Amino acid sequence: MTKPYVYMTRKMPASIVEKLEAECDVGMWEKEEEPVPEEVLEKELQTADALFCTISDPVNKENINQAENLKIIATMAVGFNNIDVEAAAARNIQIAHTPGVLSETTADLTFALLMAAARRIPEGIEVIKNNEWGAWAPFFLTGQDIHQARLGIIGMGRIGEAVAKRGTGFDMDIVYHNRSRKPETEKEIGARYVELDELLETSDFVCVMTPYTNETHHMMNREAFQKMKNTAIFINSSRGGTVDEEALFEALKNGDIRGAGLDVFENEPISADHRLLSLPNVTALPHIGSASENTRWKMAEMTANHILQGLRGEKPDHLVSL
Ligand code: NAP
Repeated sequence: MTKPYVYMTRKMPASIVEKLEAECDVGMWEKEEEPVPEEVLEKELQTADALFCTISDPVNKENINQAENLKIIATMAVGFNNIDVEAAAARNIQIAHTPGVLSETTADLTFALLMAAARRIPEGIEVIKNNEWGAWAPFFLTGQDIHQARLGIIGMGRIGEAVAKRGTGFDMDIVYHNRSRKPETEKEIGARYVELDELLETSDFVCVMTPYTNETHHMMNREAFQKMKNTAIFINSSRGGTVDEEALFEALKNGDIRGAGLDVFENEPISADHRLLSLPNVTALPHIGSASENTRWKMAEMTANHILQGLRGEKPDHLVSL
């Protein structure tokens, strides 16, 4: 009997590949740090029964419609904005993702970004490296207090809640805005639901943790940044598309807000000449929210399991829902 064919868009550790090979034929893009070219993905999808993909693979309507045998797309991520969910649903192709397993790790990074931006840690490192550390000065590299400040979270889901919990350890006043209210979270961590305007106008830290969808596209635009306090810091580790980067640049340059901590950008990867990097009050990271060794292993194993479940005709543990 012929085995089903799985295509993996990145080089994965041998044990993950072997797990799949026990039940499938496996094809793989052999590079770890370079995404599969679109034409290779398109060709592979014409014969694949399952796709193991990542956030940087555009799985669009055209290649889904040509994927005659495809039964399941399993992405090694919780966000799935790179996949045309409607086109897959129209062809009864399942989409699985990795919610939950990366929430704590991504919240750790989000809080690290908040702290780095508030206390100007990257600027401090540069001062030492550039041999610019002079005599002690009373207002040298003074930043923003984190303890007892107000943390406003837009998108109180799994990761948003994990960020909020970290904030309680710093005695922060937590407010949130979400598509739906979260009474359990309100009770458990003492977070208060507010309208978006109130969150923007009163928070010392505004942190976006929604998925990237048609509704959240450029949710943080010029109007939103102008509503923020000019002492406030903006943090984004959701997806770059939730932010109008031009508006963010203007807000930072004009002093409408104090700073920003960004793990994600609209067109990744960005290069050193990206406008936002020219500003000293931007702390930027290369989309490493879930990048702990432990969590990336769990995500890869979960993704492989979803593929096997889907191909066996079982319901994968984590199908996407909108
Ligand atoms: P989640 O549990 O689904 O949480 C998302 C939250 O956003 C939900 O509470 C949802 O509301 C809310 N939401 C959706 N649309 C909204 C809107 N238009 N306005 C206000 N709130 C809205 O997802 P998660 O696991 O926390 O992940 C969130 C996102 O983080 C992912 O989609 C991904 O893009 C991003 N992420 C980034 C990294 C990184 O490396 N930087 C790592 C992991 C994830 P409901 O409760 O009403 O559904």
